[in-house]
Amino acid sequence: MEILSRIEKTEKNMDQDNGAPCADQPLRAALCDVRSFLRDAGLRPTRQRLALGQLLFTGHGRHLTAEILYEEAVRRSIPVSLATVYNTLHQFTEAGLLREIVVDGSKTYFDTDTSDHHHFYVEEDGKIVDIPSDSVAFNQLPSAPDGMEITRVDVVVRLRNSK
Ligand SMILES: [Zn+2]
Repeated sequence: MEILSRIEKTEKNMDQDNGAPCADQPLRAALCDVRSFLRDAGLRPTRQRLALGQLLFTGHGRHLTAEILYEEAVRRSIPVSLATVYNTLHQFTEAGLLREIVVDGSKTYFDTDTSDHHHFYVEEDGKIVDIPSDSVAFNQLPSAPDGMEITRVDVVVRLRNSK
């Protein structure tokens, strides 16, 4: 069944239950999680945000470009445009639900794991792999300009096949 009609059905059931809290049905529980996840972040859980949020946040530690998420949405018959996917990813990022990884000027990945860590980037196939934050150490960082503080240091270690 299409994900969106499943969402509509689930919403209907929830209405009938007078908004009873999440039950133990997997889809409903996942939807409830995403819904409250969005609400907690101050985002209105619109149908498109719920559908994309479900694709994004039900897995663990995913790194996706807007194009990858768009393809997943199309495969699941979620009617969204690439522009909507872009906007939604940026809204989620601004709300602190995603972390942006800029690999180069033309390629931006979105990470569902917002905790402190770094990344390998495999240049040939555009793959992103996590590096735990404690495997990277700095013995010198510049001091922040007056009135500013460093929020985070993102390291992208580029890889290619060694032969
Ligand atoms: Zn990551």
